[in-house]
Amino acid sequence: MIDIERLLANELPFPPRSVCFPLEPKAAGTPRMESLRSYAIRLSAEHNLSATRLLSELVAPLKRQDDLAKLVPSWYSMKKALSAGLNELTMRTDLDKLTMLPWENVMASEGLYFPTMRWCPECVGEDGRRGDAYEHLLWNIGCNKACPYHKGLLREACPHCGSKPARDTTRNVQKRCPIRACRADLRKPMDGTPTEKDIYVAGNIGRVIADGYQGKSAQPDRLRQVWDRLVFPLFDSKVDAAHHLGLTEGLIYQSGTYTTRLKLKHWAQLSWMLGVSLSDLLLKEIAQIKPHLRPAETGQSKPRVTKRELRNKAFTVARQRKGKKLSVRRLAVEMGVCTTRLRKQLPRMTRGLSQERRKDMAKAREKKITVLIQLAHRARSEGFPLSKRAAQSELKCRSGDYFEGLLAEASRRLNGEYFAF
Ligand SMILES: [Zn+2]
Ligand SMILES: [Zn+2]
Repeated sequence: MIDIERLLANELPFPPRSVCFPLEPKAAGTPRMESLRSYAIRLSAEHNLSATRLLSELVAPLKRQDDLAKLVPSWYSMKKALSAGLNELTMRTDLDKLTMLPWENVMASEGLYFPTMRWCPECVGEDGRRGDAYEHLLWNIGCNKACPYHKGLLREACPHCGSKPARDTTRNVQKRCPIRACRADLRKPMDGTPTEKDIYVAGNIGRVIADGYQGKSAQPDRLRQVWDRLVFPLFDSKVDAAHHLGLTEGLIYQSGTYTTRLKLKHWAQLSWMLGVSLSDLLLKEIAQIKPHLRPAETGQSKPRVTKRELRNKAFTVARQRKGKKLSVRRLAVEMGVCTTRLRKQLPRMTRGLSQERRKDMAKAREKKITVLIQLAHRARSEGFPLSKRAAQSELKCRSGDYFEGLLAEASRRLNGEYFAF
């Protein structure tokens, strides 16, 4: 029992109280999840405030974001500060998940959202019958054109007067057109139907949204493997891949960035091409590439392959390659298992392959050093020391530790006097 007198005398601490009601987000963790904007608007309505006042007087001072005060024009670019501020005001921890923030390491934010507000006319009607209509995060995603539930096109303008609510509107979706002279019914379904692909993509994005809330977002390094194993083999070249996926070639070539900065749109296209759902692509296909990750991530384990089966398969692969050089990595890729497992299960074979490869590499290195020494001699006979650039172009070697190592070794053998560096 709490001792009221001691409590009032400030001897007992009051449990912390939230500034605003910790309102439940609608349909959290499902594809129909509410967007952060819709949440903020509903929260302000609960407190009898306008959304602008909630943001400028409560959230902005908290985050010391002057921009948030005049935020309405930019509330999607400020969603990090906004969700952090709202989390603090309501003492909730999940409001950042009402955006695509859980996926920020994987998807570029630029171009991710649609420039104006959109809605599914039938969802608005249905949600309205159950309570308040609210904006689904799914409608905000730029590459989505359809509602996966009603299989209709999303609407972005009033069917009667054609006015479009701005993306930064402080009004939530409504049943009637906000223009007073119009008041047309916004729940009128769109003419025309989306393609099968549009519906498929919408379903995928819905699943990604649900996964993001449930903390199942994928890691960038695993996505890179998806890219290397599943995507590139579909195309003749990286240039070709860039062309088909609507990415710039630069983006494809910058390893590291191409996967971490990919737009959701491209993942959606990709999943369509591969014929798998986007979350399957992100979570299950990755698990296939790294089989030891599979049980925890997908809830089902691969049938166990015995050591003998693995060895037989390895020999078959080796035989098929007929004398061509085989590395452990190559073998693992062809067998569809990870290198760690291969090394563990077939130690003798992998050790042999590694040794062979090491020998080959040593041989190649020795050859390059010999060439380098010859070059140095020739340069000397012509009367000038060998430059780094000349050596590099002659060896067709990229600059880096490997090249520096070659130079150091050649220089050591010639007592350093032949080189200009
Ligand atoms: Zn709908
Ligand atoms: Zn209207």
